[in-house]
Amino acid sequence: MMEEYSAWLLNELSLAARDLVNPTKRVSLLYFASALFFAFVLFTLRDRKRAWRRILPLFRLATWWSPSARVDYGLWLGNRLLFSLLFPKAITTLGVVTWLMFRLQEVGMSAFPVVIPDWGVVSLFSVCYFLLDDFTRFWVHWLMHRWPWLWAFHRVHHSATQLTPFTVLRTHPVEGVLFYLRSLVVQASLVSVFIVLFPGQVSLLTVGGVFVTTYCFNLLGANLRHSPVALSYGKQLERWLISPAQHQLHHSVDVAHYDCNFGVVLALWDRLFGCLQFASDQQKLHYGSASKLDQMGVFGHYWSPIAYLAKRGKQWLKSPAVWWSSRVKKNAKSEPKGSNISL
Ligand SMILES: [Zn+2]
Ligand SMILES: [Zn+2]
Repeated sequence: MMEEYSAWLLNELSLAARDLVNPTKRVSLLYFASALFFAFVLFTLRDRKRAWRRILPLFRLATWWSPSARVDYGLWLGNRLLFSLLFPKAITTLGVVTWLMFRLQEVGMSAFPVVIPDWGVVSLFSVCYFLLDDFTRFWVHWLMHRWPWLWAFHRVHHSATQLTPFTVLRTHPVEGVLFYLRSLVVQASLVSVFIVLFPGQVSLLTVGGVFVTTYCFNLLGANLRHSPVALSYGKQLERWLISPAQHQLHHSVDVAHYDCNFGVVLALWDRLFGCLQFASDQQKLHYGSASKLDQMGVFGHYWSPIAYLAKRGKQWLKSPAVWWSSRVKKNAKSEPKGSNISL
């Protein structure tokens, strides 16, 4: 029994290490190197003399081995082990697609009456997928800041006082499950609608092609979002695309920056919801959630949100309206982010 567990543990740890060279993973060293190169080129164009100085903080041991960074690594490995043990592998995209296709045909959806060439269908699918995927990421993230019971879990990501490229993996498992379900719903619903409308022209494999946009996004500096390097795209571009420096504003502990820049790729959704803020290469920010969680270790990050819900859940169940209407106080001048939550 012990031997089996040891073999499983070793296998999971080696898989985690392989993430560093796997181009489908955000923490791939390839993306880290390309993000650095991209930042260096942009900084050189903007301010030749100080380009190196701008990216230097990324090479400091204090960045990679701070207490905050160690919690990043702990949650990354802890979540990998937890998901390999507990995750409901029975829920697969293929299973949901098959189920949805039958439901759509039952309600009368059938093939599109006009023949569209394959390249046209794949292009239409790619655009729809990109927009729906990016919007739902924004929207779920926005909800996590709005609903106190979701913020209790999302605060784990915001408790980082030092941003490193591994902070992207600093999430509570409940958030991991939510984002997995989001991705499953987006992929399955879009693929099944397209398979019914354009039989034989789209399959689950088409989704793979759409990841080209994700590769480009990762190559062009996505890893710098969680890093000490403030890379702004400039006001004109930041109206359309979320820059690394804009995501850093999202992590700022300053109340002036609360609840802004929820987007992943497009800034459009933040503009529509009135929460876009522009960033600057020169910004000096402090990060964290301004709560006790910022100082807790890995175990505290797993346990605190659950303890909080256990404490407050009963009270909320007595008045269900709180689940739907209570919002994290926005722009509360003297109160920390998520001020209606105290751990
Ligand atoms: Zn957030
Ligand atoms: Zn973040």
